[in-house]
Amino acid sequence: MGKQYFCDELNNVLSCFHDRIMSCCSGQIGPVYYEAYRGQKIDWEAFKKIKQDAFNMLTEENINNSPCKGCFFLRERKPEDRISPVFNMINISHWTQCNCGCIYCARMLDSKGKITYKAEKSEYYDIVPLIKQLYKQELLDRRNLTACIQGGDISVLKEFEPMVKEFLKNGVKTFHILTNNIVYQPIINKLMDLNKVELFTALDCATPEVYKKLKRVDKFNDSVNNLRKYAKGRENPPIIVKYIVVEHINDNIEEIQKFIDLMSDIGIKIVEFTIDNKWAMFTNLDEKPLPAHYGDLYLYFKKACEEKNIVLNVWSRTEFIINKYALKI
Ligand code: SF4
Ligand code: SF4
Repeated sequence: MGKQYFCDELNNVLSCFHDRIMSCCSGQIGPVYYEAYRGQKIDWEAFKKIKQDAFNMLTEENINNSPCKGCFFLRERKPEDRISPVFNMINISHWTQCNCGCIYCARMLDSKGKITYKAEKSEYYDIVPLIKQLYKQELLDRRNLTACIQGGDISVLKEFEPMVKEFLKNGVKTFHILTNNIVYQPIINKLMDLNKVELFTALDCATPEVYKKLKRVDKFNDSVNNLRKYAKGRENPPIIVKYIVVEHINDNIEEIQKFIDLMSDIGIKIVEFTIDNKWAMFTNLDEKPLPAHYGDLYLYFKKACEEKNIVLNVWSRTEFIINKYALKI
């Protein structure tokens, strides 16, 4: 038998997107558990078989017919790798409404850039009944589960609090909550008290003017004030603030320096540097070059973080692209 491959995302992750339930959010359409899900009754035996079938395709003989072919996350299978009957990460992203309109938003095609002001139901399906069924089928790891709530934005989803409570009731290790942070959420503060959450938000700048160009709403001060509320009284607030570099808007060292100074002033201890999806996902960088100054921006960002004692996270794909196409190392 030839080589066998393995994917930790396939093994551990279930992603509930607005248009389908699938294995991963790799940017590649990997194995799909349910196409165009709209709350239908699920054949759970067929559902459970999909993961095993997908792994059966991860061999040298079959890989050409696998939806995982060519994926960045594939690695060679080790003898100790086991296929798990449960998922320990669930991505929830079954709605598209949002109260801002980031110019780099991957959902723009679905949300059509519409800005929503009041909490609504998802236009696609309700997640709470699905979560209940996944627990009933013993598909979620009650002791070790990370519930990653991605969005749209949580503040305009009616099911946000009910879903958090459903996870807490059935067993969850931690939450990753992605939000633009325009609206303060008391339940997130409570989760911080319980040590059960990491909040991820993309501020991307340090001034209202740049914020408005990036997000198309005038809410910079709300986002910053809410960061201050969550960080207050916490030595190491569980908050990761992203700086997504967007060409011709915030791709300069002045804005980066102001951003790092602001994070230090608020008491944020972890930031993330990333490049927007145009370069991370949708451009063939062997044909169209990455802006050359992105390498310098990254190095500057790193140094500025070190000077303020702030931890820098870099998404592996950003690091790969910056190293290969900008720093050429
Ligand atoms: S190999 Fe890639 S496409 Fe396939 S499940 Fe893993 S992350 Fe998804
Ligand atoms: S906050 Fe998120 S969902 Fe809303 S527009 Fe920005 S990227 Fe899109």
